[in-house]
Amino acid sequence: MARTFRIAALAILSLWFGSAGPASAAPQDRPVRAVATFSILGDLVRQVGGSRVTVATLVGPDSDAHGLSPSPADARKLAEADIVFVNGLGLEGWFDRLIRASGTRAPVVVASAGVKPIPAQDEHAHGDGDHGHGDHAVDPHAWQDVANVRIYVANIRDGLAEVDPAHADAYRAAAAAYLAELDALERDVRAAIARIPPERRRIITTHDAFGYFAAAYGLRFIAPQGVSTDSEASPRDVAAIIRQIRKERVPAVFLENISDPRQMQQIARESGARVGGKVYSDALSAPDGPAATYLDLMRSNLKAFDAALMPG
Ligand code: ZN
Repeated sequence: MARTFRIAALAILSLWFGSAGPASAAPQDRPVRAVATFSILGDLVRQVGGSRVTVATLVGPDSDAHGLSPSPADARKLAEADIVFVNGLGLEGWFDRLIRASGTRAPVVVASAGVKPIPAQDEHAHGDGDHGHGDHAVDPHAWQDVANVRIYVANIRDGLAEVDPAHADAYRAAAAAYLAELDALERDVRAAIARIPPERRRIITTHDAFGYFAAAYGLRFIAPQGVSTDSEASPRDVAAIIRQIRKERVPAVFLENISDPRQMQQIARESGARVGGKVYSDALSAPDGPAATYLDLMRSNLKAFDAALMPG
């Protein structure tokens, strides 16, 4: 039903924007207009582009990058863009139709090109709605491994240098400076995980977005069986989660779709696990929040994991 509506909406968009002309290829006297599909990618483009680039995002902070109901404003952003950045790896299932409908001639850069994908972690029961990752063979959340973000940054740098060759040196310099910040972040992630006793490096989450983090840094993420990410957990789900925490001796739980504080308290009380703070997987926080940039997002998650997993 929702899907049919979306296709109809896009057909209308293509009527409006189908005849849009190409964006000017090499802007000389104005900033490059970049569009990024979601907030984390938008931040990376900003870091490399600096003041030479204005960045519009399609899926903003605190929003679900897997699902977007495109609006005429989204198509307009694409139609006016000089360059478009997407994550790829199946994250933006909604993108192909939208970009066709927009009529844009801007080059599309797949930021994850060159990343070695890992399989989607979908053995557990998982909803099949917009946020279900069940129909993707690979895990799209590659930015949870800092090494992959180096690849993103290189692709962004090369893309910007291509559409705005006059400022290629500035993009190279900004990318190099940001790569140094990524090096520092990666050292901090490894040091923080190393401080956690190995037998405590396990966490339960309901959103299977941390596969790359787990593979890169040696934390184990366990998804509770029989819990859908699409709806509030039932009392039966909660009982299953408690059993699994006890069985696998999981010290901490981060359960994004259990917002009922009484359920959280029950899980903590009956399982002995700590309930972790908020973690950010697919979107930045609002600008005044703790995860307004990619670097802050990673550090904020690290703090939450660390606080929940350190003994005592
Ligand atoms: Zn996700």
